[in-house]
Amino acid sequence: PGTLQPHANNIPQLAQHFPACMGQLQTRLARDHHLKHFARLQYTLFLKGIGLSLQDCIVFWRRSFSLMTDEKFEKEYKYNIRHVYGDVGGDSNRRGKGYSAYSCQKILTEPLPSAGQAHGCPYRTFSIDNLLESLRSMGVHDREVLKTIREDVGRQRYHIACNRVFEYQHKAELDGKPGQEIPGLKETIVHPNDYFKKSFLLKH
Ligand code: SF4
Repeated sequence: PGTLQPHANNIPQLAQHFPACMGQLQTRLARDHHLKHFARLQYTLFLKGIGLSLQDCIVFWRRSFSLMTDEKFEKEYKYNIRHVYGDVGGDSNRRGKGYSAYSCQKILTEPLPSAGQAHGCPYRTFSIDNLLESLRSMGVHDREVLKTIREDVGRQRYHIACNRVFEYQHKAELDGKPGQEIPGLKETIVHPNDYFKKSFLLKH
């Protein structure tokens, strides 16, 4: 298997393995050169969870916020990234460790994003048309699959829809390899970081 070493430069490339919630944050970040607080938090925790170092995470955000001065970045944004990693902050229990990445359960139960905010799970927060558009951009073109996802979402079975997308994206690999060879693959994915790791393992 390939080695997974995220660094400041390869996040857009690794995004092909991201679930919709994180993929759409990377897309919006690349488009807007900015993300609001809760989206930054959701994404920073995820990136930390996939193994991005604090130093690389700071470089990644600094470059992504390309329309901002160094001074503004240092003053208003850097501290929060360091805080997520446990590099600064008052709580001694978290010193050096920081915070854990959000599970689907957490993301699916937090308050809905208001206008201009990008956090959350797109299966829940996007209009159905925007969701289907976004899934097409992730390579899901099969009409039957999209129809079933529409039904899942209508029944508020958001993470079932997400797992269906994962199965579709990895159909070739899953058909070729018995699930038991990949640890945990037969279990439903309930964490964005798990989605990423399993996707990466299957494709490398
Ligand atoms: Fe992300 Fe979980 Fe929603 Fe999938 S179900 S998009 S992994 S929050």
